[in-house]
Amino acid sequence: MKVVKFGGSSLATGDQIKKVYQIVCEDPSRKIVVVSAPGKRNREDRKVTDLLIDCAEEHLSGEGSPEVIAAIFNRYENICNELALPLRLLDEIKADFSERLMSTVKDSFQFYESIKACGENYMAWLVACYFQKQGLEAEYINPESAGLIVSSEPGNAQVLPSSYEVLARLKTKRGIIVFPGFFGYSEDGEIMTFSRSGSDVTGAVLAKAVKADVYENFTDVDAVYSVNPAIVLNPKEIRELTYREMRELSYGGFTVLHDEALIPAFSEQIPVHIRNTNNPSAAGTRIVSSRDQVNGPVVGIASDHGFCSIYVSKYLMNREIGFGRRLLTILEEFGLSYEHSPSGIDDISIILREAQLTAAAELDIIERIKLDLQADEVVIQHHLSLIMVVGEGMRHNVGTMSRASKALAEAGVNIEMINQGSSEVSMMFGVKVIDEKRAVTALYEEFFAAVPV
Ligand code: ASP
Repeated sequence: MKVVKFGGSSLATGDQIKKVYQIVCEDPSRKIVVVSAPGKRNREDRKVTDLLIDCAEEHLSGEGSPEVIAAIFNRYENICNELALPLRLLDEIKADFSERLMSTVKDSFQFYESIKACGENYMAWLVACYFQKQGLEAEYINPESAGLIVSSEPGNAQVLPSSYEVLARLKTKRGIIVFPGFFGYSEDGEIMTFSRSGSDVTGAVLAKAVKADVYENFTDVDAVYSVNPAIVLNPKEIRELTYREMRELSYGGFTVLHDEALIPAFSEQIPVHIRNTNNPSAAGTRIVSSRDQVNGPVVGIASDHGFCSIYVSKYLMNREIGFGRRLLTILEEFGLSYEHSPSGIDDISIILREAQLTAAAELDIIERIKLDLQADEVVIQHHLSLIMVVGEGMRHNVGTMSRASKALAEAGVNIEMINQGSSEVSMMFGVKVIDEKRAVTALYEEFFAAVPV
């Protein structure tokens, strides 16, 4: 049995939904179909989920939102027309949405959640109706009736472990199940969404629950690329990746799959297959627990900006018990979460996402660290990019770090910091934002350009 998830661009128009139908028909083992909300039809377009968020915000601020509501209805209306679906379906969507908007808002978070989830829910109604019209045995299934129960964390829900046993019953259903992604229900019966792009998580959870043979994730690219195609033209496609490699790459900025979607797949060892709705014959990328080590030590290079580092030095830091703990406690008190902390004998750098810091907080933090820890020097460096060079093969290859640093030196990039995780699946380089593209290109040249496909 396969669980198949289609992303927003695969469902943006009636024509796209026809492709989805073809894909589902081609393979009878595709039994559970998870859908996103309609995505962008072109670069300038807006995702339905973004429109829904605007609508909820405007409604809560007391303003009416007739234009946004019209734009949302328009998306579904176009799709219904393109697929020649019965008009009553659109009426049902409009009636349900108006009812949600009119309901008394007891809790604004809850209101938000109930509006945000509409994008996926209506899409699932629509896809089920289209499949039935085409003669397929298909049924819309509501996450609450299926037993997808999640924590009460609006916009960041986590699946409760008890859900899996109940969701496993989906396996026995006849026909095709069309399931809306992105949300579940709390134990109190309230709608709760996952974080953005969370339909990937729904697909992975269902795949784990029914112990699917594979979780197919259909999107709009032929494969996961070894580097961001916006930086390197026509980069190599990755055929196979391990869960750990994908985790490192998504952390470093690869957005093709939600990072939380890997957890359920990994725990049941269910292969995840990334495929293209617009080119279903392309091989795609498989994410698996282990792979053959081909093509050298590095599988992909990711980069992301928006980081800063707090550099702290104190003579004889290595002998001072509790120094690291006290430093991290200060950050905790300022409500900051940190990413990495490379350290030396007398110094330590804490890498953070800089969006968390305000100028005022920065001065307070520097003062606190100087005062409480009697540090010799505290410096905050902004505008850093982190580059992750990822590959399980690094463990078995000597000299990967020296190849990477030589490539960076030859490209004239100064390495601000280096960190190699203990798992040896990745190496991280901190560079200035202005050097990011040059650095990534140099690393790609070093590890991929000479390797045959
Ligand atoms: N529609 C939601 C979003 O845009 C969830 C998803 O597409 O997976 O984040």
